[in-house]
Amino acid sequence: MLSEFYRVPQALPMIATRYRRIVTPLPVPESLPILARIEKFEPRSLSGQPPVVWDRAEGFQVYDRYGNMWLDWSSGVLVANIGHGHEAVKEAILREVNKSLLFSYCFPTESRSLLAERLVQIAPRGLAKAFFLTTGSEAVENVIKLARTWGQKVGGSSKIAIVTFELGFHGRTLGAQLAGGYPEAKGWIGNLDPAFVQVPFPDGFRCRELGFKLFEQSLAEQGVEPREVAAVIMESYQGGGASFAPAAYVQALRRWCDRHDVLLVFDEVQSGFGRTGKLFAFEHYGVEPDLICLGKGISGSLPLSAVLGRAEVMDLYGPGAMTSTHGGHALSCAAALANLKVLVAEGCVERAAAVGEVLRAGLREIAHKYAPFVGALHGKGMVHGLHIVEPGTERPDGERAFEIVRRCFESGLLMFAPVGLGGATVKICPPLIMTEDAVQEGLAVLESAFEGSCSSHRWSAEARA
Ligand code: PMP
Repeated sequence: MLSEFYRVPQALPMIATRYRRIVTPLPVPESLPILARIEKFEPRSLSGQPPVVWDRAEGFQVYDRYGNMWLDWSSGVLVANIGHGHEAVKEAILREVNKSLLFSYCFPTESRSLLAERLVQIAPRGLAKAFFLTTGSEAVENVIKLARTWGQKVGGSSKIAIVTFELGFHGRTLGAQLAGGYPEAKGWIGNLDPAFVQVPFPDGFRCRELGFKLFEQSLAEQGVEPREVAAVIMESYQGGGASFAPAAYVQALRRWCDRHDVLLVFDEVQSGFGRTGKLFAFEHYGVEPDLICLGKGISGSLPLSAVLGRAEVMDLYGPGAMTSTHGGHALSCAAALANLKVLVAEGCVERAAAVGEVLRAGLREIAHKYAPFVGALHGKGMVHGLHIVEPGTERPDGERAFEIVRRCFESGLLMFAPVGLGGATVKICPPLIMTEDAVQEGLAVLESAFEGSCSSHRWSAEARA
């Protein structure tokens, strides 16, 4: 089905509004050679997205080169928080390019020094140093290395356990995937490291038990003693569902970490830089971490990630022992500095909180109207997840979720393919700068997509009878 969606152009009703324009069949017939080239020369795993060949993206809209324009509810993949192609970011990148500084390795650059200083300034007080890498997965790998090194230093050779959460996602490299909470994604590893341990994530849907007791119970059941734990790594919200834990749970976790000399790490790769209506999503919990991983929205554009942490942890390794060829690339750092300036100057975080309320209210109505198909609506600010289920059950329905995304795509509203358990979470994550009327227009499109894919179902007919 996916393949057909990818290969066979469908004639569609023409759409021309302020924010959306669909004037060709989709996929666009002229774009088929590009899609075919990707299918032929890249791994299959890259072909699961709605088949639009991005040509240009500005603000909260994405354009192909054939006259179509989408309202963007993806932010790429939660990268373009301040909007796509911001002039200030483009200018910052061009300034570096025109200086002819295209590469520098670990040699000092001014832009890297300024960005490290800036991030430390905006982070909680204890996070005193920043280390730059290129991808979110790399930041997670670095945190695992730092945590285990630190654990062995303070607690001896057995203090190496990394505790993470079921249904968590931290990237696709070895350590990041060991830390992840989808057992089926780890089959390829063959010999799992027993010192990577997962506990349930109290999201109120897939795990209804919300008390911190479950954390301790789950470790005990798996034979893990607190003194063996080096770090707990938690996504501030779980990307697979836009799901938060209760603040009381995370506060209890902070106390537990303090009691047992365990580092508390928030993976903010996806949730940082205003996405949830706060600069960092862990602020919703009222706790301070020992380390954080950053990525995606840090630059809003070029590849860059970072680990921020307490100095005693960040300085565990001597000169030359923590490096990365493209980490802290001058262009990426310049882009990130400009990006952070815009984030603050244009009040993007506050806008995300305010417009996020409008988005949430609209989504709540849709979730209510199509209740048998929506197991849960999770999220805050400008990130939400509609957990699509087989009607009246809690079983994830990836096919219907994909159909909803496909219908939206064909009507000019762009989301990436559903994520999370069973690929059944329709993830809604517009740039933080999206205006209220554009959000309302998107909501109307989403509602029609639900109507189209749910109305013929027995449940809907019964509900209306
Ligand atoms: N951590 C989280 C929370 C993420 O959402 C992601 C990416 N979706 C990663 C880590 C991995 O980042 P990357 O794809 O840049 O390696």
